Amino acid sequence: MSSPIVGLHHITAIASDPQRNLDFYTGVLGLRFVKRTVNFDDPGTYHFYFGDDTGTPGTILTFFPWPGATPGRRGSGETIATAFSIPLGSLQYWRERLAAKEVPATEEFHFGNVHLAFHDPDGMAIELVEQLMTQATQAPRYSDIPAANAIQGFYGVTLLERSIQRTQALLEIMGFHKTAEEGNRFRFAPAGETRGRFVDILLEKDATPGHMGAGTVHHIAFRAADDAAQLEWREELGRHVGVTPVQDRTYFHSIYFHEPGGALFEIATDNPGFLIDEPIESLGEALKIPDWFEVHRTQIEARVSPITLHKFNKDSVEAEVSA
Ligand code: ZN
Repeated sequence: MSSPIVGLHHITAIASDPQRNLDFYTGVLGLRFVKRTVNFDDPGTYHFYFGDDTGTPGTILTFFPWPGATPGRRGSGETIATAFSIPLGSLQYWRERLAAKEVPATEEFHFGNVHLAFHDPDGMAIELVEQLMTQATQAPRYSDIPAANAIQGFYGVTLLERSIQRTQALLEIMGFHKTAEEGNRFRFAPAGETRGRFVDILLEKDATPGHMGAGTVHHIAFRAADDAAQLEWREELGRHVGVTPVQDRTYFHSIYFHEPGGALFEIATDNPGFLIDEPIESLGEALKIPDWFEVHRTQIEARVSPITLHKFNKDSVEAEVSA
């Protein structure tokens, strides 16, 4: 029996314009830009990471912003909604904030909760859900949003699937069990109370497969406590699906596999984390590239587009830094 998976580690999606992506997640949702790096498989393009002040596992939304990327298409074998937790009592703040930022939002009701639903500039579906916080609410320092309203990491994801049995079987191997169902929507969660633990499946037998592109989720990553736990999962899952070797992603170590419905899953380690190559005060400010790309830094810097960061620090006044 492997060490349990407690919830999501990060979610990675595709965007088009890097600046517009950065403006939305820092300026509208108030997340911190915790890492500015490049796509290790395509080092001429960015990889952006947003999260809480330190990029805690379970708070991290990452993007490959490909300028000019064509929009993807929602379909089966895809994550069709990414939900964040917000503190109880903060829904009205978010209704007003999104309206003030001219982000149209609708309200859906699932499993007893209001989901405030809207789209990012590339059309990616985002939801905010009030949740009683079992851990102390974090007061973000690098965000203009008051602690009582600030996003507290992930709530969960919704997968669209044409059938459920094989995906459910894999989730059960991963320690996720069906906890609720409502019509064609099924909820899975592991034991425990950690952030980002809900995986919902929306079952639509006639759904057509999705198409990757701007506004779609590339993969979702679950948490392994450490490298040993990850290797146990690699062995366990390898009996059922094809799993990649461990890959060094600098800030965590990763294995990947497709769930039977087609969505790409990852298991990522909590270690070593985002403070490995930058101090907390200046996370996200410098372009970070792995050592093996350093010889190409000049070419990489020439290829990625310049961006303007919106630095916000509650200890000082907001400052803009061109990078
Ligand atoms: Zn990943």
